[in-house]
Amino acid sequence: MHMLEIRNLRVAVGGREILKGVTLSVSSGETVVLMGPNGSGKSTLFQAIAGNPKYEILDGDILLDGESIRDLAPEERFAKGIFVGFQSPVAVPEVRFAFLLQAMLNIRAGKKLTDPNPQVLAQAQKLAAELGLKPEVFNRGVGAGFSGGEFKRAEVLQALLLNPKFVILDEPDSGLDVDGIAAVGKAVSRLSASGSGVLLSTHYARVLKFIKPTRVYVMADGRIVLQGDENIIKKIEEIGYKSYFEEIRQEL
Ligand code: ADP
Ligand code: MG
Ligand code: MG
Repeated sequence: MHMLEIRNLRVAVGGREILKGVTLSVSSGETVVLMGPNGSGKSTLFQAIAGNPKYEILDGDILLDGESIRDLAPEERFAKGIFVGFQSPVAVPEVRFAFLLQAMLNIRAGKKLTDPNPQVLAQAQKLAAELGLKPEVFNRGVGAGFSGGEFKRAEVLQALLLNPKFVILDEPDSGLDVDGIAAVGKAVSRLSASGSGVLLSTHYARVLKFIKPTRVYVMADGRIVLQGDENIIKKIEEIGYKSYFEEIRQEL
């Protein structure tokens, strides 16, 4: 059993404080959903968890199984089993996707870099077929000419292949066709069933067709303002953030 804890995290980007004290946690096997209007700080939180140096931690901590990882480099966090997929993934066209997959597995296992192993490739091909990704993606550069849907599917493929302690996905269901949403949704539930702790952001209740969230957090202006179950997602879909926030304010 593993636990990832964000404790009172304050993060600045370009000198501006974006996260103003965020506390949340994810344990093995959980599917935790983060929602919030555009610009509320969801992606900033994910970048801070990944260890992007542009995101300056002003206060608070990020703990993996009780140990702070806030001073670790991104690759050290990855090696410890935290996989973060980004909202706008970066293309690295000079590195073949097959090589990236092998490199990820080697880093995670603490091994030296090697050329792609045929068994790994075979497993990746199987996952690609399930996710609706063309087999030739493995010979292409990472993200080279990938469509938005291919990016998201490729990200989930990496997570499935690695089976990390924690999988953090930023809007994995955005920009996908109906089949893509189903494939990604099923992959997410498979990850949590196999013991990974999943933290994902989304804007849509349609994910509920495939995933059963353990907990839902809502962020607004750099703070967690609500915590509950999937009914929060349904309510947001129904009336929108603005009305929901007003309703809550009146109840207080
Ligand atoms: P969300 O993912 O919830 O839509 P973001 O974390 O992307 O929100 O953005 C939160 C706020 O932080 C926004 O006002 C955004 O403009 C700002 N921000 C995020 N990343 C950067 C960056 N790299 N440089 C400048 N401002 C940023
Ligand atoms: Mg956004
Ligand atoms: Mg975002």
